[in-house]
Amino acid sequence: MSNLIFDAHLDLSMNAMEWNRDLTKSVHEIREREKGMNDKPDRCNSTVSLSEMRNGRIGICVATLIARYVKPGSALQGWNSQEQAWAQTQGQLAWYKAMEDCGEMTQIRNIDSLKNHLSKWENENTKQLPIGYILSLEGPDSIVNMNYLEKAYQNGLRAIGPAHYGPGVYAYGTDSEGGIGNKGRELLKQMERLNIILDATHLCDESFWEALKNFKGHVWASHNNCRALVPHNRQFSDEQIKVLIERGAVIGGAFDAWMLKPNWVRGKSRPKDEGVFLSTVIDHIDHICQLAGNSLHSGLGTDLDGAFGTEQCPADLNTIADLQKIPEMLNQRGYSENDVENIMWKNWMKFLENAWK
Ligand SMILES: [Zn+2]
Repeated sequence: MSNLIFDAHLDLSMNAMEWNRDLTKSVHEIREREKGMNDKPDRCNSTVSLSEMRNGRIGICVATLIARYVKPGSALQGWNSQEQAWAQTQGQLAWYKAMEDCGEMTQIRNIDSLKNHLSKWENENTKQLPIGYILSLEGPDSIVNMNYLEKAYQNGLRAIGPAHYGPGVYAYGTDSEGGIGNKGRELLKQMERLNIILDATHLCDESFWEALKNFKGHVWASHNNCRALVPHNRQFSDEQIKVLIERGAVIGGAFDAWMLKPNWVRGKSRPKDEGVFLSTVIDHIDHICQLAGNSLHSGLGTDLDGAFGTEQCPADLNTIADLQKIPEMLNQRGYSENDVENIMWKNWMKFLENAWK
């Protein structure tokens, strides 16, 4: 039987609600429906649907809510108030709930639901099983105040990345510089109280170091590659990776081509020409394993269909089911069956078992 796979970062609801993709359909059908559309660069290039996840035995994922607040004059797209951002995430949440109602997905929010779900995926006919998801928030601008954090927790929210791109309400993210400030510290304190996981992904260096200093809870990095291979602030330096390893983090390899090979030019570079393949993702995974001296801190957090499709992901990946090519590739690099299981799903599982025990 093929390996079970845990993908720690998918913007499923964003695809449903903002790309208008019906993820209960096949990837082929979703692409057909987009023929002639050119409102977004990744039209007709999607790689993810719930049936395709079942085909590839990706039985569990971390699924996001995502909505940004922007101040006047910001070059980034976003909502003009935090309340609007909150409402956007509630629409996204409503889609996950509808997927639960029709048996396509199931929310995982504690150790019992995690164990129960994984034992089903290990032992039953997976073609009929719902995809398990752990709810996370990529950039918490939508948390208007700490009462909203409480509500979000009640809705199942179990991980938060305190920033996304640019300056956020609580921290500074990719391509910006700044610390977490009082609001960021208060958020981390309340996350710690609720046992919400800190996702270090996207934090700028200053916010990263401050967040780690101020937060005593569980830390992971759902989708983050290595600066040693692709020099850019979006990736982690070896120093950051080492500290994450010390904190017991798992770091998910991300599949966006610009984070895999240096000098990618959006809209121009092509995966094949630039030599971006699944093996390039494995270079990043391997780098983390070498720094750790073991296979216990690396995993997958593909971010597939995170506002990019086949035009900007590994050339030998057509749909998310092609993640099943990775175990064999790891074997060829000398990774044992145990290592492969760790990387494909067990590291995330053990992380959650430990965080929720
Ligand atoms: Zn991201």
